[in-house]
Amino acid sequence: MLFERKSATLFVMKHIGVFCAASQRLEAAYYDEALRVGRKIGQMRWALVYGGANSGSMECVAQGVHEAGGTVVGVVPRILETSRRASDYIDELVPCADLNDRKQIMIERSDVLLALPGGVGTLDEIFTLMAADSIGYQKKQIVLYNESGFWDSLLALLEEYDRKSFINVPCQNYLRVVSSLEELETLLAAYTKAVPGA
Ligand code: AMP
Repeated sequence: MLFERKSATLFVMKHIGVFCAASQRLEAAYYDEALRVGRKIGQMRWALVYGGANSGSMECVAQGVHEAGGTVVGVVPRILETSRRASDYIDELVPCADLNDRKQIMIERSDVLLALPGGVGTLDEIFTLMAADSIGYQKKQIVLYNESGFWDSLLALLEEYDRKSFINVPCQNYLRVVSSLEELETLLAAYTKAVPGA
């Protein structure tokens, strides 16, 4: 018996981990841009992996992805889940024990990680990833979304440390900076690959 082998193209959905602010007290422009970033992620058929809270720009990104028909994966510490602070936009809820656990799961589940403007939680996530990258523990890229030059001071600090030779592996190896939605789209498009299947 002959089996007909149909040629097809299998699209593997990419996952983007997004770190961003929990604060509810930002200027409106940050929430608006987070919503736009979320919509772009959803339109490009990437799945969002994020902290899962229903506050700040985190909620806006998730809303944007959801509105664009994309998939939202929330990595949610039990304490948030039980206190009902997990977002309603979550399609897949991945429970975790604590913040360290969450960072590791977010990194494992993501193909690339994006940091929107954020506070100490976001900085902690960026630095965890950079430290892991710099000792070769993993090789995932982190993209800073440099909206209105938000990350300029961090980039200047890293340059200074580099000049003083405190940085062994050049940050450019794993750190990318985009300043607009268009630049983000171009970067994500370069990651998106169609895998030929049977
Ligand atoms: P921050 O930048 O200090 O606003 O912290 C936000 C970042 O840290 C997010 O990317 C989250 O992954 C994590 N995070 C901090 N606080 C929370 C929270 N209440 N709920 C969920 N995630 C949080």
